[in-house]
Amino acid sequence: MEKISRREFNRKWGQGITAAALMSSMPWACAMGNQKKSSASLGIALVGLGSYSTYQLAPALQQTRYCHLAGIVTGTPAKEKMWANQFGIPGENIYNYENFDSIADNDAIDIVYVVLPNSMHAEFSIRAAEAGKHVICEKPMAISVAECDQIIDACNKAGVKLGVGYRLHSEPYTQEVKRFVKDGVFGEVLYVSTEAAYRSTGNPGQWRLNKALSGGGALLNMGVYAIQSAIYSTGKNPISVTAQEFSTRPEYFKETDETITAQFEFASGAVANIMTSHNIWANRLKASCTNGWFELDPATGYGPLKGRTSRGQISFTHESQQKLQMDDFALHILEGKTNRAPGEMGKRDMIIVEAIYRSIAEENSKISLNLGNMGIV
Ligand code: NAD
Repeated sequence: MEKISRREFNRKWGQGITAAALMSSMPWACAMGNQKKSSASLGIALVGLGSYSTYQLAPALQQTRYCHLAGIVTGTPAKEKMWANQFGIPGENIYNYENFDSIADNDAIDIVYVVLPNSMHAEFSIRAAEAGKHVICEKPMAISVAECDQIIDACNKAGVKLGVGYRLHSEPYTQEVKRFVKDGVFGEVLYVSTEAAYRSTGNPGQWRLNKALSGGGALLNMGVYAIQSAIYSTGKNPISVTAQEFSTRPEYFKETDETITAQFEFASGAVANIMTSHNIWANRLKASCTNGWFELDPATGYGPLKGRTSRGQISFTHESQQKLQMDDFALHILEGKTNRAPGEMGKRDMIIVEAIYRSIAEENSKISLNLGNMGIV
């Protein structure tokens, strides 16, 4: 029987070789990492063991069915031991930022999940792709459209799959909003208002307030959720954007944007108003339609989310969004299911982010966008 390395498997899989043909020649199929999972469970390595990896992704990976925590990449030696003990990660699946590229030779790792400060997403996503691993890149996908292009190109070249950490596309309230829009349940969407914001009062030295590491302030961190909400609440990409910036605590927000509002126009005539901030608590989407309205509040937190419509409450059982998201991505690889948050979606959002910053720099001018259906899933 022909033997195929895991790296070659990932490349072929990314290029569309059928599961059945490959399964029969997978010598490691029953010997992958965590034995709690079925033989179809893919190994994930988390890169960057900060708060999101520690408190959301690692716990979620204890619940996933089609993927499991197989490795870690960290710059902090003390975390190596802690994570190895807590999650039973073998030494050969533990990397630092320098020796990370040798992950190419590790058949226990199928997916690299990049959970680092925003300015490091591109470098580590590209290195992961070049190592033949599928990639999940946290939001925002990168700090510029040019970097998003580099990530997408690297994944295409390596024949690996690319997903952005937009967990909401896998959770039921957001999916219900998308269904409302697709099926015209409340008629035509006329106006959308979205808010994704929190009040930051923590360490002024944190990377989110450092432009070189974050790429920007509230807009990159939370604003991408407000942009996303406006798009899935209308089902379309905007054709123009006009934006405004507000600053009330310049001594704290020295380098990064504090509060931004923006208005989107859509080809249908619909209008959206978005607000994002690192100075205000707000988390909501509301859509007014020809025959009613729908609302999520909170709309983008880790859940449970809450939903109401002009016809009453909507309610779904809460599950870890990260669990749903990572299993969806694994099933995209294993069974060719839809990639709910592909790289094009992350790039599209960065195009809008750059247009918003440009509008602000050009005295709130209206910036035209020509996105077609880019990133609409
Ligand atoms: P964090 O500050 O808690 O963790 C960052 C990690 O990166 C730490 O382990 C830190 O040691 C490491 N790191 C490596 N180089 C660094 C440097 N030069 N400066 C600072 N840290 C460095 O951040 P986080 O909240 O875990 O966020 C990480 C990424 O995950 C960000 O891109 C963020 O936008 C994203 N995130 C996504 C969600 C979501 O819901 N999808 C939620 C939180 C964070």
